[in-house]
Amino acid sequence: MTEAVAPSAEVIDAVKSAGGQASRFCYQCGKCDVVCPWNRVRSFSIRKLVREASFGLSEIENDDIWRCTTCGTCPSECPRGVQQIEVGLAVRRLATTYGVFSGSARSVGAVGASLASEGNPLSEDRSKRDAWANGLGVQPFAEGMEVLFFVGCYGSYDPRMRKVAVATAKILQHAGVSFGTLGTDESCCGESIRKTGNEEVFRALARRNIKAFIDRGVKRILVTSPHCYQAFKNEYA
Ligand code: SF4
Ligand code: SF4
Repeated sequence: MTEAVAPSAEVIDAVKSAGGQASRFCYQCGKCDVVCPWNRVRSFSIRKLVREASFGLSEIENDDIWRCTTCGTCPSECPRGVQQIEVGLAVRRLATTYGVFSGSARSVGAVGASLASEGNPLSEDRSKRDAWANGLGVQPFAEGMEVLFFVGCYGSYDPRMRKVAVATAKILQHAGVSFGTLGTDESCCGESIRKTGNEEVFRALARRNIKAFIDRGVKRILVTSPHCYQAFKNEYA
């Protein structure tokens, strides 16, 4: 027995506002599913998700809406210019709005709360963000310094990635580069939480970081995380 599902105007509007209008050009060739890396390890159809969204039939309880890693492969291969990532993010924004985090996305709500309160996704204290630099003589960034070293959340808290932060600071010192950090004023770049559809937390994090950059006269930023690189180069505009 099949169940009739009423199209949701809210989903259709969300897809449209996210630039998903191009989904109407999809002619179901399936190339996006063929090139998607997920299908090397398990079955996953972004074509189906885009199709459902364009008709307002997305199911925000479906674990598959969290599957796409936004790697960028399928949009670059689509012969009809469909923006699969934007459509997927529009559906995730709806799920976030209603607080529906199923399956593999169960932790997304807690991550968003930690980012909003402490500026990192790891439920760590903001006050310990600069503890990695104890004893290294790393200075707070001040106007006139050459480079702001933006350490990132994992560089600040993760035991293995802290070694990268320490090595980077030592290399800069050895090379005679004048640099500083934002210390406990640094917040997560927000790139990953934005990919879950939580635009509100992303914007709050971005505003705080941008204010810190402007207040201190930052002109050049060094990052070790590809997420920070993507956010600063392409999303903080
Ligand atoms: S590659 Fe493009 S046109 Fe082909 S099924 Fe996917 S979204 Fe549709
Ligand atoms: S952008 Fe998402 S759906 Fe497209 S190929 Fe990458 S993981 Fe698959």
